[in-house]
Amino acid sequence: MKRSGSLALVALLVFSACGRADGLSRPDVSGRRVRAVATTGMIGDAVANIGGDRVEVETLMGSGTDPHLYKATENDVVAIGEADIVFFNGLHLEAAMGEVLERTTTSITIPVGNSIPEADLERPAAFEGQFDPHVWFDVEMWSYAVGAVEAALVDLDPEHASAYEANAAQYLSDLDRLDSYIHAQADRVPPEKRVLITAHDAFNYFGRAYGFEVRGLQGISTATEAGTADVSDLSAFIAESHIPAIFIESSVPVRTIEAVQAAVRARGFDVAIGGELFSDAMGDQGSFEGTYIGMVTHNVDVIVSALLEERSGGTE
Ligand SMILES: [Zn+2]
Repeated sequence: MKRSGSLALVALLVFSACGRADGLSRPDVSGRRVRAVATTGMIGDAVANIGGDRVEVETLMGSGTDPHLYKATENDVVAIGEADIVFFNGLHLEAAMGEVLERTTTSITIPVGNSIPEADLERPAAFEGQFDPHVWFDVEMWSYAVGAVEAALVDLDPEHASAYEANAAQYLSDLDRLDSYIHAQADRVPPEKRVLITAHDAFNYFGRAYGFEVRGLQGISTATEAGTADVSDLSAFIAESHIPAIFIESSVPVRTIEAVQAAVRARGFDVAIGGELFSDAMGDQGSFEGTYIGMVTHNVDVIVSALLEERSGGTE
């Protein structure tokens, strides 16, 4: 993987970006496990894989949780306060948790998304000047975030650096294989059929990395309901382009995409709901989809099989 050599740089970027590392006394973790908190499941998965036996990780946002809207509970505030280190996405993903994360003074906070070079980030018009925070859907790009987790754990617990480095190397090589698998799956779909339509704009980086045109109904977050004009525009596009399938997301109410399906049908074309994608949250704990590799594998499998299914539309 081409970025594994630049971990020192990643660490520098992360720590300078959050501005807390300098002067912060590092908790003494010798003789006990590191207590880590992660906001999203995707981040928690990276921390668990790299931390191994050394790190106890509590993930705040479970399956089906929408990180754009999630507000810290009292228990979360306690967990964050008691943690040695808190990992979060940043790039404004955890919008409703911003204050809690910023005010934390008792632990080291690592916004893993800040480790990604700005040149790699998208700032779509619909996102009103902000970066697209859904960085985990380009697996290669997500490796920067994984590198940031590794660098932060090594810095916090240098005694066990070699274990973290070995775990990270293994995880990054698994991600490398995952990235190749997604490319191979995507390549099965003819380029003109690679159109991915979902309930909100979570898949821009996925589309860029793996060659799909992506259209979402909502903008940066799920906070705003899609307007009737958006539904109308999108349904016209689907009916005219004969898109075979559109997708629901585990962390967004089904009604948004059902409204699109109904509007497409009203135009005389039958678009299928191709299945459920995990966008901003992983599947249930203990399931394959409850891991980062599992959720991404599930998504590409669902997308590719639905787009290849050649369902007959009403106007065919
Ligand atoms: Zn989102």
